[in-house]
Amino acid sequence: NVQKIFEYRIMPYGEKHLLLIARDVTRLTQLEQMRKDFVANVSHELRTPLTVLNGYLEMLPSTENVPPAFMKKAFNEMRSQSERMQNLVEELLVLSRIEASSERVFEKSVNVPQMLAAIQVEANTLNKDKNHQIIFDIDTSLRVYGIETELRSAFSNLIFNAINYTPAPGIIHVTWNKQNEQAHFSVKDNGEGIPEKHLNRLTERFYRVDKARSRKTGGSGLGLSIVKHVLTHHNSKLDIISEMGVGSEFSFSFSSELSVQSSATGALEKQ
Ligand code: ADP
Repeated sequence: NVQKIFEYRIMPYGEKHLLLIARDVTRLTQLEQMRKDFVANVSHELRTPLTVLNGYLEMLPSTENVPPAFMKKAFNEMRSQSERMQNLVEELLVLSRIEASSERVFEKSVNVPQMLAAIQVEANTLNKDKNHQIIFDIDTSLRVYGIETELRSAFSNLIFNAINYTPAPGIIHVTWNKQNEQAHFSVKDNGEGIPEKHLNRLTERFYRVDKARSRKTGGSGLGLSIVKHVLTHHNSKLDIISEMGVGSEFSFSFSSELSVQSSATGALEKQ
């Protein structure tokens, strides 16, 4: 029930008549609004860390009387703000690369188990001060046709989000297996859960449930929108199930045409 927006033009029609032309510009107007929102969001996201950085930099010329402990805090804060900007710019580049990508999904099969093993190493580093129990349950012979860099973004975003948003110490299950002839991936946590009203909007760019908490984790607010784009490119979609006080599960499947199981000899067989 979107309200339609029309553009009207009146033209002479013969000697005595006028012609009224109505054009449906609903979609155009929506796209223009999305573009404006996007630019406004990016500017806002960059302005906040820049304001903090500038604040500290202005103070630098008069630092003789500043206690070393304060200087240390200032440098830490400056570093974390510049990391935040770097993270945002990198995710924006990932997003625009995916949107512009004409790479064909069916050309190469991706060794997902190997990729998950590499992500597991990064996850362990991220988990150092969280101490979650992270359980990886991986079918080591299951691959998919797809684009490696994109898939890596999708898998790692969901795993890192579970680590970041689950109160420590939690339990996180990462599963990669075959279900109904389809390769299936799931990340399940026992965090606080996400209120239902947010679920439909989570994959929108810059949408966050709790802005303050998400920024503290260094999140750009683009992670799930990247996941959504990657999955669309691979003819799949993100399923989110969440229950307050119980936890959340983010999952997706690849069609049987994209799923590849290696045989006992190591040769790849298309399903
Ligand atoms: P961000 O960069 O802020 O993490 P994302 O697009 O990855 O952005 O996620 C959007 C929002 O979804 C997050 O800010 C957070 O509020 C919520 N979220 C994502 N994953 C989880 C999770 N596993 N548990 C609870 N909330 C989550």
